[in-house]
Amino acid sequence: MNTRPARLVLKPGREKSLRHRHPWIFSGAVESVEGDPAKGDTVTVIGKDGAFLAWAAYCPDSQIRARAWSFDAKDTIDEAFLRSRLKASIDRRGAPSGGDDAMRLAHGESDGLPGLIADRYGDTIVVQILSAGAEKWRTLWAPLLADLTGAKAVYERSDVEVRVLEGLPPRTGALLGEVKGPARIREAGIAYDVDVVGGQKTGFYLDQRDNRALAGSLASGRDVLNAFCYTGGFTLSALKGGAKHVMSLDTSDEALALGRHNVEINSLDGSRAEWLAADVFSQLRKFRDQNRKFGLIVLDPPKFAPTEKHVANAARAYKDINLWAMKLLAPGGHLLTFSCSGAVSADLFQKIVAGAAADARVDLQVRGHLGPSADHAVSIHFPEGEYLKGLWLQAS
Ligand code: SAH
Repeated sequence: MNTRPARLVLKPGREKSLRHRHPWIFSGAVESVEGDPAKGDTVTVIGKDGAFLAWAAYCPDSQIRARAWSFDAKDTIDEAFLRSRLKASIDRRGAPSGGDDAMRLAHGESDGLPGLIADRYGDTIVVQILSAGAEKWRTLWAPLLADLTGAKAVYERSDVEVRVLEGLPPRTGALLGEVKGPARIREAGIAYDVDVVGGQKTGFYLDQRDNRALAGSLASGRDVLNAFCYTGGFTLSALKGGAKHVMSLDTSDEALALGRHNVEINSLDGSRAEWLAADVFSQLRKFRDQNRKFGLIVLDPPKFAPTEKHVANAARAYKDINLWAMKLLAPGGHLLTFSCSGAVSADLFQKIVAGAAADARVDLQVRGHLGPSADHAVSIHFPEGEYLKGLWLQAS
């Protein structure tokens, strides 16, 4: 029996991105498939000249026809290989600092684990399995994660749109141990209850950790507006940082309820926090009509541009919320404004925000360029991973 792995032969000249260690092989780059690989199977990727390029997981359903596990011909993609990849991913992050107990452990392509996301929330780990390759090895991840970290429960939240593109059905549920109620985490001395079963994404926006700390450091004595607050990450940082008052806006009642609950479990003064179920676009205009002013505004909207074709509409939406938020800034006030759209580059985002400032007729200084915390580090070979970008602006 011939057990040689199937091979993907690329069209002439299409090996360049793999030589640059970019992990995606698009369908248009494939000249032929030799053998009969099943979805998720490891295939050898070779150039037209027969040279080895990568080991990759095959996905016949996706435009991304294969995702590279390795660029080294000597590797064998098996349990031991994946264990060492995951271990390296966890080890290079080290333990969370300062009494924190939540962090991203695996960040997909950027950690050499295409399609695998793992977030640690105390004793619970939440995984997202987003590619055919990660799916093929799905029974491996939970025991490996538990073994490498000592976590007691692993919960799957593969209920995301991108799985459809891989021809995979959505899936959620416990993979190991039991998840009873929310997971309690600590970040920068603040406790949060994280709804790992019903919350957004894997339950919490760990990528904003450093930016929440920045907001906390700017909040003292200020009136704060936290727009798109979810479960109150920035709200609690601002309260802890001594904000006079924090107004938090979100359209999700569940998120707001958990935000209120998070204030309670920290014994913070709830009278300084106001939670409003409202659409940010219209609420900013209402605040303007009321002549409200804020000394710190956080704008952390959902992904307005899921793909390239949404960029023009997304740009209008980013411009709109930034323009109206700028009109609400008190003199010397700070604006932390974000985009988590991979399709909107940091450059483009800054141009949009500059356009908003011009139209709002406010002078602002760029105090800093913001990004995700280090546990969400992006591989230098994978610019697509740079989704979160932000600006720290201050009004004159
Ligand atoms: N800043 C948060 C994460 C924000 S995620 C944190 O650090 O945890 C984006 C949030 O925007 C989600 O909670 C979603 O419910 C909310 N949202 C989406 N569209 C909205 C709109 N038009 N108005 C208000 N909230 C909205």
